[in-house]
Amino acid sequence: MTQGILTLNAGSSSLKVALFPGRGDRPMASALADRIGPEGTLRLKGAFGQPLEAAPGDLTSHAGAMRMVLDSFRLEFPDLDILAAGHRVVHGGDAFDAPVTVTPEVMETLARLQPFAPLHQPHNLAGIRAAMEAFPGVAQVACFDTAFHRSHPWVNDTFALPRALYDAGVRRYGFHGLSYDYVTGTLGDLAPHLAEGRVVIAHLGNGASMCAVQGGRSVASTMGFSALDGLPMGTRCGQVDPGVLLYLMDQRGMSAAEISDLLYRQSGLLGLSGLSNDMRTLEAAATPEAAQAIDYFVFRCQREVGGLAAAMGGIDALVFCGGIGENSRLIRARICERLGWMGIEIDHARNTENALVISSELARTTVMVVPTDEELVIARAARAAAGLTERDAA
Ligand code: ADP
Repeated sequence: MTQGILTLNAGSSSLKVALFPGRGDRPMASALADRIGPEGTLRLKGAFGQPLEAAPGDLTSHAGAMRMVLDSFRLEFPDLDILAAGHRVVHGGDAFDAPVTVTPEVMETLARLQPFAPLHQPHNLAGIRAAMEAFPGVAQVACFDTAFHRSHPWVNDTFALPRALYDAGVRRYGFHGLSYDYVTGTLGDLAPHLAEGRVVIAHLGNGASMCAVQGGRSVASTMGFSALDGLPMGTRCGQVDPGVLLYLMDQRGMSAAEISDLLYRQSGLLGLSGLSNDMRTLEAAATPEAAQAIDYFVFRCQREVGGLAAAMGGIDALVFCGGIGENSRLIRARICERLGWMGIEIDHARNTENALVISSELARTTVMVVPTDEELVIARAARAAAGLTERDAA
């Protein structure tokens, strides 16, 4: 019998699945179903990245994709016994500060949060329903991108809007919480003295945010009510004056759907460069617009590190993660360039090697690169729900 834990991340037209063993941190297989619909594709990989064979099936719906992924995993592991499934869910509102086993009541609460994250939450919930159908009787665990931030003090939880809106749920929820959870836990293992202190974690990927973590708890984050706020991202705008949105509506007659498309899909690095949302492409490009897009990204990152450090009364460590944070020596070096006043100083040789610690020996503030692993956080939560402890799983 091969015991397995599934982690699932359902988007509007994609489904990412990883199969973890009952014990151990490395997935045995993973799958990416993309463009779910008439032109759906499925890529399957084994533990070492080798391609796996796909079982027959249909990719026209999430439920179909889920069955096809599971059947494909079963080709590889015929005696597969799924113990639990963990789901990435973007929004847990103020109700959930930790993963939760899904019950009909939980589903109702999560469905009520759909208006807060209309682009993601409905798909996340569809993924849970599809999983319930594909493997009934297995514990389904919802893991939230917002949960890690529920410890924010009130001043970092609210906007200066009339209180009734706060009471109705218009708050700074913060996102990327699974990543921050992982990095905080890993820091606790690698450098406990730092984990107890004041840490800014920079999750810089296609989506990008930063989080101030003090004594292991999130106290502030650059993302707010939605995953649009804060840093500029691949195609998302980051912080923008709300007056701009009023202008677009009133003077340019743009609809909510058009503005949403502008802010989520046409802005950020793509909008500024007119070239690409991809940092690698921009680093390699020779156009002034690509250079300006990078300049803006770096500048906003510097501002936010300063702001988050101020929120904690200082900083002991800056930790980079995410595709850009883990791989781009250029962006890391440029962000740190103007942070010397915070005791941040990079060792360029270490930075070039993507070493774990990239700050120079005598620097007051430690700068680290910690590859994040959101799926492992989900797998661990699902394992716990299945009654397996990490000791069992070690
Ligand atoms: P997502 O938020 O979709 O999970 P990732 O964390 O995978 O995204 O990050 C994707 C980003 O990381 C892209 O902008 C990509 O160009 C960037 N990236 C990955 N490797 C490098 C690299 N070696 N140098 C610069 N940027 C990189």
